[in-house]
Amino acid sequence: MVDLRALRSNYRALAKVVGRARVAGIVKADAYGLGIAQVVPALTAEGCDTFFVATADEGMATRRAAPDARIFVLNSLFSEDAAALFASQRLTPVLNGATDIALWERHCAKPGTDKSCAIQVDTGLNRLGLTVPQAIAYAADNALTRAIEPVLLMSHLACGDERDHPLNRKQLAAFNAVRAAFPGVAASLANSSGLLLGREFHLDLVRPGIAVYGGAPSSSVTMKTVVTAEARILQVRRAQAGDVVSYGATQVLERDSLIAIAAVGYADGLLRSSSGSGVPMRALRPGGFGAIRGQRVPILGRVTMDLTMFDVTDLGPDTVLPGNFIQLFGPDLPIDEAASAAGTIAYELLTGLSRRYTRFHVGIDEATGA
Ligand SMILES: *Cc1c(COP(=O)(O)O)cnc(C)c1O
Repeated sequence: MVDLRALRSNYRALAKVVGRARVAGIVKADAYGLGIAQVVPALTAEGCDTFFVATADEGMATRRAAPDARIFVLNSLFSEDAAALFASQRLTPVLNGATDIALWERHCAKPGTDKSCAIQVDTGLNRLGLTVPQAIAYAADNALTRAIEPVLLMSHLACGDERDHPLNRKQLAAFNAVRAAFPGVAASLANSSGLLLGREFHLDLVRPGIAVYGGAPSSSVTMKTVVTAEARILQVRRAQAGDVVSYGATQVLERDSLIAIAAVGYADGLLRSSSGSGVPMRALRPGGFGAIRGQRVPILGRVTMDLTMFDVTDLGPDTVLPGNFIQLFGPDLPIDEAASAAGTIAYELLTGLSRRYTRFHVGIDEATGA
C-alpha cells in the first residue's frame, strides 16, 4: 500500500525545512518503485513543477503525468537520436561530460531549438559529471558561443548522510566555485540527507527522494510511513524442537514451534540476505523479521523464491490463521530497520519490490485526481 497523503505530507515538511529553495520530485526507478503515474500527480498537487528521472523512458512516463513540468533526465545522452527524443518529449538532458555537451551543442545548432539543459559537475563522488576545472572552462566558452543554455547547475553529495563528514563542506566549496562561473544559472546540490546539513546546502533547488518516500534521511530524523509491504499467510504448521526449516536445513528449532508460511520470497523482493539463517549475511546481522498485529516475528531459515517461514510461536496457538497478512515493513516495522536486517538500505527495498506486488494507492484526491 502506498499512502499518497503521507507522501505529500513528507514533501511539505521538507519544503518547510528549505524555505525559499524549490523542492524537486525525484521519481527515477518508477518513483522508487511506488509508481510514477500516481506519485507525480500527488507531488504536482503540492506545487512541485520540477522532476528528475534516470532514463528517457522514465522521462516519457513522467511527461504523461505532468504535461507542463520541467523534467530532467540524469543519465547521459547516447546519440543524436536521443537528442531528438528529448526534444520531442520536452525532456531536459543533464549533461555529464564533454561527449554529452558536444551532442547537445550539435542538436542545438539547428535554428529554433530549445537549448535548455542541466550541467552536472562532479565535486567528489566520482560518478557522473564534468570535473570542476572542465566546468569552469566550459562556462567561459559557452558565454561566448551561447551554443547551449544551461538552466541548472548540479552536483551530488557522497556523504550527505554523515553530518560531520569533511567531504560535505569540501564538495560545497568546489560547487560554489563552479557556480561563480555560471552567473544567473540555478544551482542544486542537496538530496534528502544533504538538505538537513544546513541552509548553505539548499541553494536554489533541493532534490529529496528517499525522505519523501518515508525513509529516514538521517538517523535522527523520521518521516511519515508511505509504503506498507505485506504478504499473505498460506499455512500455519506445528514443528518439534530439533526439526529443521527451509533449504540447507540451516535452521534447527530450539523449541516446539508454530510456523507461518507466507507467500513472499526473493522473487518478490524480500531479500535472501534477510534469511533467519543459512546465508553468509547471518554472521553479521540478526536476520530479518516481519510483524503481525504489531508483534515482531523472526524469519526462520532461508528465504526461498516464493515462500518464507516466520516463527509465530510467541503469538500463541490459533491466533495466526491462513489468509492473515504479515507486515514486511510499514508502520509496525520501519523500512530502515527491515533494510538493516537484510544488510542494505531502504532505497534497495523500495526499488526491489517486484511486479508481483499489487500496489494500492490511497489518498488520491477525488477532486484533483492527484
Ligand atoms: C537519487 C538521487 C537523488 C535523491 O537522493 P535521495 O538520497 O533519495 O534523497 C538526488 N540527486 C541525484 C543526482 C540522485 O541520483
